[in-house]
This record gives sequence, C-alpha cells and structure tokens, in this order.
Amino acid sequence: MKCKKCKTKAVIGLPRHNAAFCKPCFNEFVHDQVARAVKSERMFGPKDRILVAVSGGKDSLALWDILLKLGYRADGLYVDLGIAGYSARSREKVERFAETTGKRHQATLLIHTVQEEEGAGIRELADLVNRPTCSACGTIKRYQFNRAAVDHDYDVMATGHNLDDEAARLLGNVLHWQEEYLEKQGPSLPASVEGFAKKVKPLYRLAERELAAYAVLNRIDYIVEECPMAKGSKMLLYKDVLNRLEIESPGTKQSFYWGFLDKQAKAQPAPVSMAEKDQATLHPCSLCHQPTTAEICSYCRMMARAKAGSLR
Ligand code: SF4
Ligand code: ZN
Repeated sequence: MKCKKCKTKAVIGLPRHNAAFCKPCFNEFVHDQVARAVKSERMFGPKDRILVAVSGGKDSLALWDILLKLGYRADGLYVDLGIAGYSARSREKVERFAETTGKRHQATLLIHTVQEEEGAGIRELADLVNRPTCSACGTIKRYQFNRAAVDHDYDVMATGHNLDDEAARLLGNVLHWQEEYLEKQGPSLPASVEGFAKKVKPLYRLAERELAAYAVLNRIDYIVEECPMAKGSKMLLYKDVLNRLEIESPGTKQSFYWGFLDKQAKAQPAPVSMAEKDQATLHPCSLCHQPTTAEICSYCRMMARAKAGSLR
C-alpha cells in the first residue's frame, strides 16, 4: 500500500476516499479536512478565541491539538463528572496534554468539577433528581460549557463530534422523526441570542477511525475506555449499524450526513431562521440569566430538585 500523495509506504488506508497515506501526508489530510470545515461553515477566524470542550478522549484531544497546530487561539475546558475511577483517569489525560502540547502553544485549561460546583458527582445528582445519568450529564455539560464560554469571553465553543457521531445522531433523529432536533443538527450553531455562545464541530468531516489513527500517530495519550454510563446507549447501537453498512459500502456515513447537510442548506437559510426562532422563544432564566424557553432554565430546575432531594 503506497501513499496516494508521495508514493512512500502508507500507514493508513481510507477506503471512503479510495486512498492511503503515509504519516506526514495523513496529518496534512486531517488538518486540511478541519481547515475546510472551518472555512466552509464560517466557524471562526484566526483572531477568534476558541474554547474546546475536552473529555480526555481521542476526538476532543485531537481537535485541540489540530487547532493549536493550525495556529488558532484555542483553550480547553474539562468537566470533571465525578465518576469513580473514570473521571480521575480522563482528567489526568487532559491535564497531561495541557501541560505538554497546551503549554507549548500558550493554551490554558479550565476545569469545572461537578462534585465541588454542583455539590455531588453526576450519578448521585441524577439519583437525587430521578433522571437517567446521561440526561442529567447533558444538562450540566451544555450549561457549564456555554456559561464558561460566555463568562470568559470566548468567541466560539468547539466540540470534538466527528462524522460517526453526527451520522449516528442523524440516524436517531430520522428514525424518530425528531424534526426540531433535525433542524438544529448542523456543524455550526450561531450565537442566536445574548448569553448563548456560538457552537461548532470542526471534526464533522473526519471519521472516528481516522481520528484514532491521528491520535496514535501523533502520540496523543487519550483515554481509550468509554464512559461507563454509555454502556447500552442507543448511540452505540446506531454507530454499530452504520459501521456495518460502511464495511459493505465505504462512504455510506459520509453520503448520509453530508447529503443531509447539502439538502438542509438548499432547503432553507438555516442560520437566519434558527436565530430568528431563538430570538422569539428565548429569554433570560429568572435565576441564572442564561437563555431558556421556560421561566427557569432546566439546569436551575434540576439543581433546585437536587437540593430538595438531599434535604429529604
Ligand atoms: Fe455523560 Fe452519559 Fe456521556 Fe458519560 S456517557 S459522559 S454520563 S452523557
Ligand atoms: Zn437558570
């Protein structure tokens, strides 16, 4: 197997592109895919301050690495969920990356510790409010990422969602015809109202397997194990189904998700109508002032229930 570009020995084959690359040409390919995503979706510019949500996994650490190497001003934010063992191991990976690559590029790591700020680890909190752990976790992470980006004056918040994540999410949304989610499923969500940070997904053109290869080839030390709470999740099932289709027919995930984005772009001027919709439905939470459709936002409601639950 020879590199498509320079004809030396290839280290990775990419069936969906009918190509193979050596390490330097593969790195160039990965960086180029991110640069194309940033440009075509108008995610951010060279002067913007970016806050990358890092979990310790390959995707978010690779994203932070790529943005720094492309010369962007990118800091990291890690949310420590307080999941015994797993959180300590993933936090260590993030801190080590920040100490080495981050420091070299003058990047900072912000840490939000759920145990300290919300008063209990994510499992305990979810029990107190009688919600599935992942649902409570989603509320906290969305809230804290947005709040950190807004409070620290970042221009944009970036997450490490890759092509596999987005294709699996699209499959779930289509299977259940969740039209409201479908409308918001894009790689770039505008800061539609005051108090909402712009959110982008610069890895949407890269597959999970390609990011794992990038992390290994560039010696990024990431946590390999999944969060223990992910076990049995629908997303893992959808990913598995899509992986089987991809083996039979390389390029399936890409044509499914990118095709959706194409149709979405042709069907409506999404950012404008979405921003208008948000402006009509969102207003500041009466407790924390972050934008919400209700009087009190879901985070504040959850925290009030947790407090009441712990007093019983
Ligand atoms: Fe949070 Fe669930 Fe994801 Fe774990 S699997 S990080 S608990 S949403
Ligand atoms: Zn609130």
